[in-house]
This record gives sequence, structure tokens and C-alpha cells, in this order.
Amino acid sequence: MATVKLSNLKKSFGKTDVIHGVDIDISDGEFIVIVGPSGCGKSTLLRMVAGLETVTSGEVQINGAGVNEMEPMDRNIAMVFQNYALYPHMKVFDNMAYGLKIAKTPKAEIAERVQSAAKLLQLEEYLMRKPRELSGGQRQRVAMGRAIVRKPDVFLFDEPLSNLDAKLRVQMRLEIKQLQRSLGVTSLYVTHDQVEAMTLADRMIVMNGGIADQIGAPLEVYANPQTEFVAGFIGSPA
Ligand code: ADP
Ligand code: MG
Repeated sequence: MATVKLSNLKKSFGKTDVIHGVDIDISDGEFIVIVGPSGCGKSTLLRMVAGLETVTSGEVQINGAGVNEMEPMDRNIAMVFQNYALYPHMKVFDNMAYGLKIAKTPKAEIAERVQSAAKLLQLEEYLMRKPRELSGGQRQRVAMGRAIVRKPDVFLFDEPLSNLDAKLRVQMRLEIKQLQRSLGVTSLYVTHDQVEAMTLADRMIVMNGGIADQIGAPLEVYANPQTEFVAGFIGSPA
């Protein structure tokens, strides 16, 4: 269970303002997609929620508690990256179990959680393989499995499908949607692909140069773009 609230969230690197003040109240279980062109500040926004980047001003709240001062490990957030970030020398099972081992979870519970995530992600046959023995899609599933086993309050995804070919991307998109339906974990998902955003989002944040140009349900944004930028971006082919 988690609500996430961003209040006038801003980020500057030196004198450059990169995020100009984003506000959003995210309900428990909501799937929010942050969409916009390369360089508009999507990853920076996500990294502030994760605690991987300091906040210049404003606040991130999870379940009503400010997290600016909280250690990243204490936020109970799991993040899935574009490049999977798997440990190449570890088997799939150990990749998925790693965070739980660090958290000193009992062995039997680790096994149970990894098995159940592997089942959900159709990875049961691959648990004893190394990442290099897997396809791109399978690697990305392992990365998601590693996030799921921790039972996070919040999932963060940063362009998780960008390294996959077009066909696989469509398939994984559907899998993520199903996963979201069965897990119902509050999620923030970053992509530059407006079709991905339209498919996955309960609500989307359309970013333009560090500004949240529009926040709304996909059809609402599509039918009623509030700025010329949004109209052009959402209406353009992927
Ligand atoms: P996106 O994920 O939408 O492509 P980013 O959040 O990565 O965009 O970057 C937004 C802007 O902030 C870019 O102009 C980028 O160059 C700049 N930026 C990101 N990280 C840093 C950093 N650590 N130092 C300086 N500038 C940065
Ligand atoms: Mg990025």
C-alpha cells in the first residue's frame, strides 16, 4: 500500500534548472507514466523519488511521510532500469534473491518468493541460468522479478523496454500491464514512447523541458491536449 505525493518538486544541476516544479498526488495502486522526449527530465524526476538524486526544493512524500531525508534503502522502493543491471556472474535465482539476502530474509522465504515471482514471469525454467544465457526479454523479466520479490510499496521503471526489439517491446508491454493488474503496486514508469504510455498508464504526466505540461488519463490527454507540445507529441507516430 502506498500513496506518493510530489509537491512543487524542483531540480537544478548547478545553474541549470532541469525540473521546474512538478505536483502530483498518486493514489495507491495507480500506474503513472512519465512520458516526454529525451532530455526533458524524466529520469531525474524518477531518481529523486528513488532517492538516487537530491531534491533541490519541494518534497516527495510516500504514505504522507517526507522522504527527502530518508535513506534510499528505507523507502521500500524497487527500480527497474533499461540496462537490466543484472549481476553477470550470478544465476537468475541468485540475481532475484540478492536483495532479500542482504535484508537477511530467511532462506525458505527467499526460495518461496523467488519461485512465486518466477512463476508470475514465466522464468521457472531459467532459474539456474546465467544472464548471458537468456534473451533480452528474459533478462528484463529477471530484473522485474528482482524488484517483485522485495514486495516494494512503489515500483519505479526507467525505460525498461528501450533495449528490446519492437515486437518484444509490444509483448512485454502487455506483460507489464498484466503484472500491474495482478500486483496492483503503485508505479511510476518512464518512457519516451507515447504508445507505451497510452497503453500502460492510468494517468500520464507529459513532460516538456522539465515542466509537467499535462497530467491526465491517456484518453483525456489524447482528446484534450492542453498545449501545442502535448498535441504534437501525443499525436505523432512512435
Ligand atoms: P530524460 O530522462 O528525460 O532523457 P534526464 O532526466 O536524464 O532526461 O536529463 C534532464 C536534463 O538534465 C538533461 O539536460 C541532462 O543533460 C541534465 N542532467 C541529468 N543529469 C545530470 C547531472 N548529473 N549533471 C548535470 N546535468 C544533468
Ligand atoms: Mg532518461
